[in-house]
Amino acid sequence: MNSEVLEGLREIVPNEDILIDELMSRHTTFRTGGPASLFLRPGDEEAALKVVRFLRQNDQPFFILGNGSNLLISDKGYDGVVISLEKLNDLRIEDDTTIVAEAGVLNSAIASFARDNALAGFEFAAGIPGTIGGAMIMNAGAYGGEMKDITVSVRAIASDGVVVTYKGEECDFGYRNSALKKRGDVVTSVRLTLSKGDQEEISERMKELALKRKEKQPLEYPSAGSTFKRPEGYFAGKLIEDAGLRGFSVGGAQVSEKHCGFVINKDNATSADIYELICEVKKRVYENSGVTLEPEVIMLGEF
Ligand SMILES: Cc1cc2nc3c(=O)[nH]c(=O)nc-3n(C[C@H](O)[C@H](O)[C@H](O)COP(=O)(O)OP(=O)(O)OC[C@H]3O[C@@H](n4cnc5c(N)ncnc54)[C@H](O)[C@@H]3O)c2cc1C
Repeated sequence: MNSEVLEGLREIVPNEDILIDELMSRHTTFRTGGPASLFLRPGDEEAALKVVRFLRQNDQPFFILGNGSNLLISDKGYDGVVISLEKLNDLRIEDDTTIVAEAGVLNSAIASFARDNALAGFEFAAGIPGTIGGAMIMNAGAYGGEMKDITVSVRAIASDGVVVTYKGEECDFGYRNSALKKRGDVVTSVRLTLSKGDQEEISERMKELALKRKEKQPLEYPSAGSTFKRPEGYFAGKLIEDAGLRGFSVGGAQVSEKHCGFVINKDNATSADIYELICEVKKRVYENSGVTLEPEVIMLGEF
């Protein structure tokens, strides 16, 4: 990183929020990943906007980090700037049933906030361990719900550096995909529509879904959730199981014995172990069933 760029960033972000060679294993739910040349935590939307514009003007590569729950970052790290939006964490009710959340707010926090305000419709996302910004990019979903269903609008920094507000339908949400992702927009806040509900029922539904996750998913190990997208007409976990890969390991990475759709960091895995395991699973599933699995996990850096 050249010193002029660093000086420019220091005018936007305070020194304590600029980390050099920050290990990304501290910021991913896989608990793997090497150092990012620079790691920044802008304090608000305005600072995030200035950082993004500055880096674009100076041709510096950057990557937006949510909660790192869908990421595989190379052991060699990332030769660029990682921008964490964790400080964009404002959460409020706008009117009776609309919640406005900044991009860095965790889904779990929104779910608790909605429950406390007797607002129903976000229970499905309570156990998705990411930020609402990441959830918009991925159109995260579970148990019959997805972000698409509840998104009124998304505020984002577009590729030309202008702040835009997209209506929900303009986000073109698809299965674990969105126009926001395709365009490389930086989400700064979202407006969600929920409905008035019974606090006790909302709480019960959240507990019921948390229990389901605990029973079915290997939450006791670091992972990035479902490693592969669901191929149309199939279930990734079933295809992996049918290929005889339950418990299959490379180094410290393993196809979970509890849920074959999850690759877990069983024992001090490296990102290289996880990557190799993903490639091997893909190859063997194809040989066994003719179906090509596509990773849902986003990879960053050199593999
Ligand atoms: C145990 C476990 C269970 C899971 N269960 C589910 C599930 O049920 N359903 C589901 O859909 N997913 C699930 N996931 C995957 C993951 O939690 C989701 O994909 C989540 O939405 C990712 O959000 P994040 O904030 O962690 O994003 P990250 O992993 O940090 O980033 C994901 C992508 O979004 C981009 N991004 C993040 N924030 C922004 C932003 N503000 N602006 C622009 N780009 C941004 C990143 O650059 C990256 O490309 C699970 C993961 C784990 C570990």
